[in-house]
Amino acid sequence: MYSQELTDNNMLRYTRQLVLDGFGPEGQNKLKMAKVLIVGAGGLGSPASIYLAAAGVGTIGIVDYDTVSYSNLNRQIAYSTEDIGRYKTDCSEKQLTRLNPDIEIIKHSLKLSADNVREILVAYDVIIDATDNFPTRYLVSDTAYFLKKPVIEGAVAGYDGILMTIIPDKTPCYRCLYPTPPEDIALNSTEETGVLGMLPGIIGTMQALEAVKLIIGIGQTVSGRIITFDAISSSFRDISWKRRKDCPLCGKK
Ligand SMILES: [Zn+2]
Repeated sequence: MYSQELTDNNMLRYTRQLVLDGFGPEGQNKLKMAKVLIVGAGGLGSPASIYLAAAGVGTIGIVDYDTVSYSNLNRQIAYSTEDIGRYKTDCSEKQLTRLNPDIEIIKHSLKLSADNVREILVAYDVIIDATDNFPTRYLVSDTAYFLKKPVIEGAVAGYDGILMTIIPDKTPCYRCLYPTPPEDIALNSTEETGVLGMLPGIIGTMQALEAVKLIIGIGQTVSGRIITFDAISSSFRDISWKRRKDCPLCGKK
């Protein structure tokens, strides 16, 4: 399955990770063959996509229909001032290809909906949910559950960040935590809460780390637990989390 050889340049490019325990050429080839979808090319999706491209994930899909604006630039590090007004998918492709020309970037310059979500998600191995709104988050996590795809959830609001990895039928799902979307739909929008760029930088980078560990099969992912990060006190919390028997999605029907 992982038969594609690494070129000499690739051996040099990835040399610092190739020497890691549990990594090696086999791990690198797993990354090369992997397809990761990033939903949302904003404050979380920017660092996630950059680190996954740098690590050599062979196919990175990016879903976003938005264009770059000035108010994005304090945290969306995939973009520059010259990108204002351009599609984030186009700018991400340019930036990630410059960083690593050996990988494929697939642009999905559209708004995810019930009509298109399944055909997009089905082509990928791992989904990174880097959205900024609850309707899309539920759409992605519900669809991924039915397609049996792992989802790495990340979110930020104000000075608070949260991270969890959901593996269908093995770990709690998103609806085990929040059975129905919160009434205050704006709760998840940085437009309302504000955000300092480093916070999505930290959480988005951790989402990329989760993806790499899932693909290679090393270490423990943040599944069956939730990690929260408080940027004001610079403290992490690790909270265990169980499946809900009456979960509307993964519970006993
Ligand atoms: Zn559930």
